[in-house]
Amino acid sequence: MPASAKRTGATAKVRLQRALRFARTRTRELLMIGKALASTKHPVLVHIIPMRRCNLACGYCNEYDDVSKPVPLEEMKHRLDLLADMGTSVITISGGEPLMHPELEDIIRHIRSRGMIAGMITNGFLLSVDRIHKLNAAGLEHLQISIDNVTPDDMSLKSLKTLDSRLEMLAAHAIFQVNINSVLGSGVKNPQEALTIAHRAVGLGFTSTVGIIHDHKGQLKPLGETETGIFEEVMQLGKRSYSRFNDFQHNVARGKEHDWRCRSGSRYLYICEDGLVHWCSQQRGYPGIPLAQYTPEMRHREYATKKFCAPRCTVSCVQQVAMLDNWRDPQTLKPNLRKPAATQPQLVQIGSTPADS
Ligand code: SF4
Ligand code: SF4
Repeated sequence: MPASAKRTGATAKVRLQRALRFARTRTRELLMIGKALASTKHPVLVHIIPMRRCNLACGYCNEYDDVSKPVPLEEMKHRLDLLADMGTSVITISGGEPLMHPELEDIIRHIRSRGMIAGMITNGFLLSVDRIHKLNAAGLEHLQISIDNVTPDDMSLKSLKTLDSRLEMLAAHAIFQVNINSVLGSGVKNPQEALTIAHRAVGLGFTSTVGIIHDHKGQLKPLGETETGIFEEVMQLGKRSYSRFNDFQHNVARGKEHDWRCRSGSRYLYICEDGLVHWCSQQRGYPGIPLAQYTPEMRHREYATKKFCAPRCTVSCVQQVAMLDNWRDPQTLKPNLRKPAATQPQLVQIGSTPADS
């Protein structure tokens, strides 16, 4: 039985359902890896935004507003169909806050009906037992919550204190995999809290990862001695999860540039609420082309394009995807930079946002 099945407070029925879903998802993930190694022509992971609005306002965040409407379900289905037709393996729903979307479960159902793996990143505040059951029924496979501190402060309300009751609900009722991401780095007042959060996550039967944030100028900055010790300990706690594929973070922790090939725009896509394709959440505006007009040739060009921001990048999900291709096809092209589309907000440059993706 997977460790994730042994969460606290779950009935025997929930544990069985959880073990079955885990086994199915793991099988599909292995197939996804095999397909990605066999061909470079399809996206492996896509982050899609059904809702830019958020119910929180974290001080460091550049990925939300407090006014925008949900993307209509039919439009979301159309975008998901385009992605499925490209051969996409995994869709992660992100935001803003996806739980604010009134038809989120239908979006998840559509992802599964098209054979793609369904994940979600949420702040967790809108979770309830009823909502968790709906997410189970819709077929959600992964959920990630990023927790910034033990008690809420001016910068972030995403604390262990405010979220612990939701974590207990997930431990008792969720049959999908849950990962808790904590953060370290510049601006984090008490690094010891990352360890407290990671221990609580593992104690509840979840996996645990740690993200490293940049300083306020968006530059890599080595962690101090205490933070480095905590980082290594949290990484060790997370060894049974996907964080074992986060080894590049050891470079980030030491403030070293790292050598890798960012395949965003090709193997990884970020689709904003307007349906435009971007390199990632931190480089919105490139290439800024509507998904329906994004051709295989454009994807292949981005595959071979060297990204100027790669050596100092902390966006962990894109780096995990890149590991499938780092061993092959050196990047020889320069970015085809053009003015961002008129509908786009100002281009977002890499900044002091936690790498919670
Ligand atoms: S970090 Fe997440 S929860 Fe906080 S404002 Fe941004 S989108 Fe909302
Ligand atoms: S910030 Fe990172 S993930 Fe985004 S385009 Fe640059 S290198 Fe790729």
